Amino acid sequence: MRYKYVSVFGLAKSGIAAAKRLAKLGARVLVTEIKPAEQVDPSIVKELQDMGVDLELGGHSPAAIEKAELIVVSPDVHLDIPILEQAKQKGIPIISEIELAYQLLKKPLIAVTGTNGKTTVTTLIGEMLKAGGKKVAVAGNIGTPLISVDDSSLDYLVAEISSYQLETTVDFRPWISVILNIQPDHLERHKTMAEYIKQKQRIFKNQTSSDYLIYNQDDPQVVKMVKGAKSKLIGFSKKKAKLLGLAPSKIKIPGEHNLENSLAAANAADLCSINKETIAQTLRAFPGVEHRIEFVAEKNGVSFYNDSKATNPASTIVAIKTFFGQGIILILGGKDKGVSLVEMIKLIKKKVKNVILLGEAAQRFEQELRKAGYNNIHLAKSLEDAVTLSLSLAKKGDIVLLSPACASFDMFKNFEERGKRFKEICASKL
Ligand code: ADP
Repeated sequence: MRYKYVSVFGLAKSGIAAAKRLAKLGARVLVTEIKPAEQVDPSIVKELQDMGVDLELGGHSPAAIEKAELIVVSPDVHLDIPILEQAKQKGIPIISEIELAYQLLKKPLIAVTGTNGKTTVTTLIGEMLKAGGKKVAVAGNIGTPLISVDDSSLDYLVAEISSYQLETTVDFRPWISVILNIQPDHLERHKTMAEYIKQKQRIFKNQTSSDYLIYNQDDPQVVKMVKGAKSKLIGFSKKKAKLLGLAPSKIKIPGEHNLENSLAAANAADLCSINKETIAQTLRAFPGVEHRIEFVAEKNGVSFYNDSKATNPASTIVAIKTFFGQGIILILGGKDKGVSLVEMIKLIKKKVKNVILLGEAAQRFEQELRKAGYNNIHLAKSLEDAVTLSLSLAKKGDIVLLSPACASFDMFKNFEERGKRFKEICASKL
């Protein structure tokens, strides 16, 4: 380990994993966390202390950067906080957990980014490689932090990478990068689309002509952003999918967007020498990931779907498109991200029978829907209330779709809790 003193900002999943790995490599590690001790799991504190890691809870003091030769930041720590500005002035390198992981990695890395579909595609690539007999780990934003994976006995590592994680990369250079789509999201952090796109471009910034960049040819923003990449470019397009024999009827996960996801994954698997039949078999069997247009139950001809992971309008749009031709009762709302609703509302006007609104975003969503001339709106006080309302509105053949276009933090811990709660409510009422 070339660094003796390392400070880790943020005691969440990736910070904990980074601290442990660094301590094992012999660095003197200080973890600094804004939350006070009462809000931190004592077993984690003990485990880190037993490994010789120093902890500073309840805020970042000047000591946090005093000796540090390297700073590792968690994705939810903002880079413009004063202490990190000071660290920059002192010339201390500030990197993310994935950059650190990258620097320690030995095996080929396949990295997936985009606004929507990352988890689905990362999981699918992992499944295809496993089906083809490869030893592979799936990590990153998806669950297991990249830094906690020991790749010595692996053939490949597949990682889901968010724009936050890319902000602080330096040498990060995947063998295969995948860019799925770019839609407005996370503007509360990146401020402008240009800034958000710039961060996403970092996934291929260090790639050379011996690396690959798989990208969505149907997304004009993506086409524009990959110009100038030095990597070998592999474009995919759902318009050309049939030529490859990849029709939606041969893919278990529903919707056109999942055809795009399947194409992206298939291209990556192909580069890893997985044969076509194994890829096709995986696509026929892969049931999708929980909380992504997940079938919950059917009662009296009404089907309920949990798409709690739809945390921006673009993902709600693909969910509505998935059920074209059916009566849709859409449960929308949560914590508002302030992004434009124009395209989503256009589609709602054409295709959605009733909208049930929920959470902090309800007021703005209602105003914008009414302004656009859509009035089949119902307000719910809770998710339970929303399901009860949906039952009174739904007719045989209809779809009740929880696809909120919002984050969940106003009412739930995270989107998983929101989705689980929805499924529990459905189970108790249906
Ligand atoms: P991410 O990890 O990027 O958030 P997920 O696979 O978890 O992506 O899907 C997030 C949401 O976006 C879900 O509601 C899902 O149905 C939707 N989605 C999945 N793939 C796409 C895609 N290619 N384009 C647009 N939306 C998508």
